[in-house]
Amino acid sequence: MQLRLDIITTTPKQIREKIFSTLDNYKEIFPASKEARILIKPNLNANMNALTGNTTDLRLLASVIMYLKDKGYKDISIAEGTNSGYYRNKISVITRLRVDAMAKRFGAKVKDLNYSEPVFIPFEDGVKGGIAKDCLEADLLINIPKLKTHFEAGMSVCLKNLMGCLVGQENKKKTHKSLARNILHINEHIKPNLHIVDGLIAMEGLGPTRGTPVNMGLIIAGVDPFLIDLLCAELAMFDHKKVTTLRMAEVLGLLKKEHHDFIKSLNIDGHKRKFLSPRGSLAARFIHSPKRQKYFLAIRNTKVFNYLCSTKIGGKILFKTGLRQDVFIEDEMSCKGLSIDWEKCTRCGKCADYCPIDINLPDGLDNEGNSCIHCLYCFMVCPEKAIIFKGEFGFVSEQLRQYDDIVRKIA
Ligand code: SF4
Ligand code: SF4
Repeated sequence: MQLRLDIITTTPKQIREKIFSTLDNYKEIFPASKEARILIKPNLNANMNALTGNTTDLRLLASVIMYLKDKGYKDISIAEGTNSGYYRNKISVITRLRVDAMAKRFGAKVKDLNYSEPVFIPFEDGVKGGIAKDCLEADLLINIPKLKTHFEAGMSVCLKNLMGCLVGQENKKKTHKSLARNILHINEHIKPNLHIVDGLIAMEGLGPTRGTPVNMGLIIAGVDPFLIDLLCAELAMFDHKKVTTLRMAEVLGLLKKEHHDFIKSLNIDGHKRKFLSPRGSLAARFIHSPKRQKYFLAIRNTKVFNYLCSTKIGGKILFKTGLRQDVFIEDEMSCKGLSIDWEKCTRCGKCADYCPIDINLPDGLDNEGNSCIHCLYCFMVCPEKAIIFKGEFGFVSEQLRQYDDIVRKIA
C-alpha cells in the first residue's frame, strides 16, 4: 500500500506552476513511450460551469494536458460519460462546458464514454454492468474528480467519479440498487494511475448539482483513492461513515487502519472547513430512505415512468420537488463574443487569473484574433460586471439565475 498524497494550496494564478511541480513528483507513473494512450477522466456529470462547484475546472485540465504535451505525449484524450439525463436528452455536456474547444486548443481529443464499447463486470445481485473499454485499455489513466457533496453518496470524489466510466444510461441505472458497492466494483476494475482532486472551487450542501460553491483553493494528488477520499471527508469535516463508498470500503477491508493513521498524522487543520451536508428535499428523503428506495427504483426503471420523466412537465415537477437536481434545458448557448466595458473595468486582473487558455485579459478580449473558447469564466468572476456577453445565453441562463452573485463573491 502506497500511503502518500500531496495537498496543494494554490491561488488562481499559481495553478499551472503547482500542477507542473506536483506531476514531477509522480514520474514513475508516466509511460516510457510517447505514443502511449493517455486518458484523463474529469467530472463532467452535468452542464454546469466549474465555478458553480459542479464540474472539473478547465484550468486544471488545461494544466495537466500542457504538462503531458510538454513531456512529448501525443495521444491524450479527455473522456467522460456524463449523467443519464443529458445522455438521454442527447445534450453534449462536453461541448457545453467547452471541454472540446479547450482540448482542441492544446492538441488533445475528447471522448464521450457513454458511446464507448462496454466490457461487462460483475455488480451486486448477479447484475453485469458495462464499463468503457477505453478506460481499461489506457496506458495512463488520470482521474480528476471534483470535491463535492453528494445527496445519495454523501460525497463524490475519486471513487464515485468512476461512475462516469459506465457506458450509457442502461448501465448507469444498474448501479443504484447497491450504489456504494457497485461503485467499488467499478474501482476494482478501473484503477487510475493518479488522482488529482479539483478542490479549487468545491461544492457543499445539496450536491452534486444544486449545492453551493466554496472557494477552497486546494488540489489534492495521490495514487490511493481510499486515502484521498478519506482526506476529503476530513477536510469537509464529514464523518467518513456518512460517505457511503468509504463506509462500504471499510466493511470490505479496503479502507484500513493505516489509512486513518496516515490522515491523523497530517497537519490539515488549516485546510478544514465544515461543509453543509447534502440534505435533500422532503420528497427526496422520503423516497431515498433505505426502506422505500427499492420500491422507487422498481418504478423508476419502468418505461412509463421514464417516459413521464422525459416530458417537459414531468421534468419540471421532478426539479421543483427536488427529486431531480438537473434541468435539461434544450437551448444551446450562442456566444458571439465578449467585450469589455472600460468604464467599469478597474484592471483588477481577476479575469486573467481564471482564463484557462491564458488570454491576455482584460485587453485581449478586444482583440478579434483571440482564441477565446467562450467558457465564460472571466465573465462569471468579474467583480465589476465589466465583461459584456454578446449572444444568447440559452441553458446558461438557469445557472446564472442560481449562481451569478455567489460566484462573483467567492471567486
Ligand atoms: S475582472 Fe473585470 S474589472 Fe477586473 S480586470 Fe477583468 S474585466 Fe476588469
Ligand atoms: S477570455 Fe474568458 S471566456 Fe474566453 S476563454 Fe478566457 S476566460 Fe474563457
